[in-house]
Amino acid sequence: MHIFAIANQKGGVGKTTTSVNLAAALQMAGKRTLLIDLDPQGNATMGAGIDKRALPRSVYHVLLGLAALAEARATSPSGGFDVLPANRDLAGAEVELVNLDQRELRLKQALANHSADYDFVLIDCPPSLSMLTLNGLCAAHGVIIPMQCEYYALEGLSDLVNTIKQVHKNLNRDLRIIGLLRVMFDPRSLLANQVSQQLEQHFGDKVFKTLVPRNVRLAEAPSHGVPGVLFDKAAKGAQAYMTFASEMIERVATWENEQ
Ligand code: ADP
Ligand code: MG
Repeated sequence: MHIFAIANQKGGVGKTTTSVNLAAALQMAGKRTLLIDLDPQGNATMGAGIDKRALPRSVYHVLLGLAALAEARATSPSGGFDVLPANRDLAGAEVELVNLDQRELRLKQALANHSADYDFVLIDCPPSLSMLTLNGLCAAHGVIIPMQCEYYALEGLSDLVNTIKQVHKNLNRDLRIIGLLRVMFDPRSLLANQVSQQLEQHFGDKVFKTLVPRNVRLAEAPSHGVPGVLFDKAAKGAQAYMTFASEMIERVATWENEQ
């Protein structure tokens, strides 16, 4: 079971879109996949076609030890992958976790008995470096960082990279940056191309080969509760996420051979 956190402390950079579409594409490729929504906004939950307002149990209950993962998970009707859903309840978890033992390891512990259930677990992190994100980073083997190729993109990245280094050093020796995924890419923009080149120079093969273009079909899909890769399979954005899933599967196979 490979566990990846999709993280970037900036909002609106494509974390949820990447999480939902990668989960759906991996499931389509025959990989048993669990998507964990760690954002109180519940966008990944809704994007997977699960109504966040009608959850008997959610990731909130799992983090606080009020329910087991098996009691809280659901299956995406459109995507076929499992979802540990979230809604506004999760906003309170931050405060409630403070008094608990090993509060940053709650998600890791919840996943411990499920290593035979899934090939991939994807964790959609909230737009902050909070206790929730910390739970995601402590549970994961690697981080996928979606980013837009904008002027301030690199600046924000150093905070995230430092946090990941700290977590690696103090809490989770397994954690590494799997890669940076360029999303909402506009190939006609000079700036986007320049930033993209800078990323490649700085991060080398940590930058995924796949480029996800800006594509309105990806933005429309969530309102239908269907992942973009299924909503309009022929759209450029859908095809990019399918290619990205293949790239991920390849990378994972390479590590497995190395070990
Ligand atoms: P985050 O989870 O980082 O806040 P989202 O995945 O929710 O970011 O994306 C922010 C907004 O951008 C959403 O409205 C989403 O539909 C849209 N979006 C994301 N990726 C793309 C894309 N490749 N093309 C067009 N719109 C996109
Ligand atoms: Mg999001």
